[in-house]
Amino acid sequence: MEQFHHRGYVSTDPRILPAEGVGLDRPADVPEELDVLIVGTGPAGMIAAAQLSRFPAIRTRIVERMEHRLEIGRADGIQTRSVETFDAFDFAEEITAEAFKLTAMNFWGPDPEDPGRIVHNGWAPDDDRGISEYVQLIVNQTRVYDYFERYMRWSPSRSTPDYGYEFVAVEEHEGEELPLLVTLRRTAGPDAGRERRVRTKYLIGADGARSAVRRAIGRRLVGEPQNQAWGVLDLLAVTDFPDIRTKSAIANRHGSILVIPREGGHLFRLYVDMGEVPPGGSDRIRAMTAEDVIAVAKRILNPYSLKVKEVVWSTIYEVNHRVADGFDNGSERKPPNVFIVGDACHTHSAKAGQGMNVSMQDGFNLAWKIAYALSGLAAPELLRTYELERRVAAVNLIEFDKALSSRYAHAEEEGTEKELEEFYLRTIEFAAGHSTEYQESLITEGPEHQRLATGFPLGKRFKSARVMRRADAYDLHLGHTHEADGCFRVYVFADRDGLAADSPLRRWADWVLRSPESPANRYPLRDGTRDSAFDIKVVYQQALSEFAFDDAHPLFKPETGPYRLRDYSKVFAVLPEEDVFDLRGIDRDGAVVVVRPDQYVSAVLPLADPEALGRYFDRFMAG
Ligand SMILES: Cc1cc2nc3c(=O)[nH]c(=O)nc-3n(C[C@H](O)[C@H](O)[C@H](O)COP(=O)(O)OP(=O)(O)OC[C@H]3O[C@@H](n4cnc5c(N)ncnc54)[C@H](O)[C@@H]3O)c2cc1C
Repeated sequence: MEQFHHRGYVSTDPRILPAEGVGLDRPADVPEELDVLIVGTGPAGMIAAAQLSRFPAIRTRIVERMEHRLEIGRADGIQTRSVETFDAFDFAEEITAEAFKLTAMNFWGPDPEDPGRIVHNGWAPDDDRGISEYVQLIVNQTRVYDYFERYMRWSPSRSTPDYGYEFVAVEEHEGEELPLLVTLRRTAGPDAGRERRVRTKYLIGADGARSAVRRAIGRRLVGEPQNQAWGVLDLLAVTDFPDIRTKSAIANRHGSILVIPREGGHLFRLYVDMGEVPPGGSDRIRAMTAEDVIAVAKRILNPYSLKVKEVVWSTIYEVNHRVADGFDNGSERKPPNVFIVGDACHTHSAKAGQGMNVSMQDGFNLAWKIAYALSGLAAPELLRTYELERRVAAVNLIEFDKALSSRYAHAEEEGTEKELEEFYLRTIEFAAGHSTEYQESLITEGPEHQRLATGFPLGKRFKSARVMRRADAYDLHLGHTHEADGCFRVYVFADRDGLAADSPLRRWADWVLRSPESPANRYPLRDGTRDSAFDIKVVYQQALSEFAFDDAHPLFKPETGPYRLRDYSKVFAVLPEEDVFDLRGIDRDGAVVVVRPDQYVSAVLPLADPEALGRYFDRFMAG
């Protein structure tokens, strides 16, 4: 978190924001009238709820049919894209501290002398290209929920999940202020089984692969089963397999295993190939036990031993590759008001470690758009971009997963040892979650000015770089100043004479500060928790010693809070040894990079044309 004490001295944990709006008198039970109802406390639902909790004027509730928090999760692989996202929710460092840090992959294949035994074939670092400043993590998915839950509880809305409520049905009454009439059923407590009705403006189905919300809006998952079964074991065990504490792909003529070391130093997960499922063979799969999976694992690990002390969690699943035929209930006539996110829209195998990660990006993509539509900051047409953007991401994920799954499934075949390794290295950026590239749309500018900042590709996530905060000489990652507060970031990279009285930067900043056409003046403050819908920061080309904080244009030194204190957080110098202009291909005549609330680059604009910023926001913002 960047700032506190600006509304007066805070003696408690400064991450607990003052309650506002719905947080002041939040009803203990789900009220009858809402703005947003989220169904399901999986990763997709929790991130959406956490983002919306920063909008205390919006009545949001998240319901879950389980009676309490999930205790043992399924997903455990966290991509660096997700860790970047966690940074915006203020828990990247904490979760990294407790997680297993995944830095490398080992490859084991059949011994040419005896294909029933395994030998070490090679090793590859996970990110030797600096794809992200973060490292991939392995941690139980429930810990991710815990951090989101804390973020919600500490937000101005004081939100918490409502456990013991099952979504049953939704009816739409067009033209009414709260057009969606949702039936919920209590699943726990003295009134278990009782139904109740809730009216809401928006409904988000984050209710997993068997989504009832998806069925309710007449959408269905389309695609093929892969007829491949996998066993998953979370084990506490003693083994002499040498790479049990690194991620390892293992194959011999008995099948293949993926080893995932887990947090805490002892636990590890095995994904074990249980072979092809014949048509109609699902019953055989369902009848398999953890002991069956362990027996196969022992054969594949030959000549190494595996002595299981405790099976902490296990499951057997069949791989299905499916994408929903629609992600919302929108039509040409009307923008959507019911959405599905996460596994409700896409299902695939678990080994690529994608499900939780992609699901969170669905929720993050959608939540700010709903908040903007509800608070009148944007027209509801903005909501159409959710399906437009996330459907492409889902289809790409399925294609990637099909290719990866088939390589794992055939890894034991002779002559294929190198294929999996090569595929792994080729697709590291995708696997880490950084290949998403939103196409030109209402909210993503065309490539006209991309050459001004080639290292910030349009539609891709903002790839952070280090800079020096001028006021306190603090060396930090620019991207880490992006909070999940629903604001757009406008990063202004100054021209070489940016400090001079008549520089393009000065003229740009004068226009943004003073013109009635400037987005900073056209779009009013949203609520009491922020000073602006925009967070505008400047990076000068000069080093720390070459200018003073006071030399910066007044636009970048705004007053904040009731005392109108000066905001010292928006002015940066370059680090001479790691100049962001060189690292990210920024034109020395300057550039303006606009980043959406969910951290994706949405516009690259010239400093010489300040009105371009106004034209960009006028496309979807509502004055
Ligand atoms: C064995 C296994 C391992 C996996 N490993 C990984 C991994 O390493 N990395 C990764 O990224 N992904 C992994 N995944 C996938 C990952 O778990 C899912 O993709 C992810 O949890 C999907 O998130 P979600 O929020 O869409 O749905 P879910 O996590 O399925 O959450 C849906 C929630 O909705 C609730 N719900 C359902 N119906 C209703 C209803 N009618 N009313 C109210 N509540 C309802 C459910 O109880 C549940 O809490 C794995 C999956 C499996 C099975």
